[in-house]
Amino acid sequence: MLNQNLKVNLHVCEYCNYHCAHCFAKFGCKATLPAENWKVIADNVISSGRVREINIAGGEPLLHPQMMEIVDSVRAYGIPVSLVTNGSLMTTDWIKQNGTKFKTIGFSVDALTPELQRTVGRCTNSGAVISPEEFGRKISLLREVNPEIRIKINTVVSQVNKFDNLAEFIKLWNVDRWKLLKMQIFDDGIHCNAGIKVSDAEYDSYVSRALHSLGVKFSPEQVQYQAGQTQVIAERLLKGGYLMIGANGFLLDDTKNASYTKICDCQKENFAEGLKQLTFYEDLYQSRY
Ligand code: SF4
Repeated sequence: MLNQNLKVNLHVCEYCNYHCAHCFAKFGCKATLPAENWKVIADNVISSGRVREINIAGGEPLLHPQMMEIVDSVRAYGIPVSLVTNGSLMTTDWIKQNGTKFKTIGFSVDALTPELQRTVGRCTNSGAVISPEEFGRKISLLREVNPEIRIKINTVVSQVNKFDNLAEFIKLWNVDRWKLLKMQIFDDGIHCNAGIKVSDAEYDSYVSRALHSLGVKFSPEQVQYQAGQTQVIAERLLKGGYLMIGANGFLLDDTKNASYTKICDCQKENFAEGLKQLTFYEDLYQSRY
């Protein structure tokens, strides 16, 4: 039976105000599709009958000038929307205006000390970073505005942060879901992050230490853990388990090489048909949810 429970990620723009060394949001698409085009894509995706949730990502999605129009167009179908952001443009006014519209907000946080954030490249060109206190204020306000919201933290483990540990922050803010991702090698001939890859052993050591700080025992084959209120997801392998429409509007396959292969143009071609061409590992996908 076809899985009708899919979560599709719309990477609504490629550009970003940060420059993380591991970044794999590279679609070869500097132009940004306007909201009108994303509405066509959302309609195509949702009409497949296979999708239970849409996640808005980037680049930094808050840099898309019509991001909330895209969100509203998805919500009009009764489909919940999540967001993954670096948080730098999420102001108090933005949260008050838009915080109720999201089921989950995920912050990408690989480190919290200013030095390590800058080494990762998780900072603006002038070196501005978000302090732990500022992240905490954003989380508090989101929960005040929307008590139902789920807060997620995504952490990519690379050579740069492999000895770090965000567990105290996760506990302090009762984060709902902490996703630990082993950095995937990305190389499209222009951008290459292979210089900061980690081995399975290095990644497992990070996860084991983080879980220990949360009072949970690590097991190498386990993906999901429960640490109090926090669900921890530890993923060594992402490829083939993530449904992605890039900033170019194409459904993308990440299993063929170290970058992306275009499967179908979701502005013109049928998404449900495109899914049949995609290499997608159901077991890997299910293990996460
Ligand atoms: S914040 Fe995200 S999109 Fe921006 S550079 Fe970092 S990883 Fe890439």
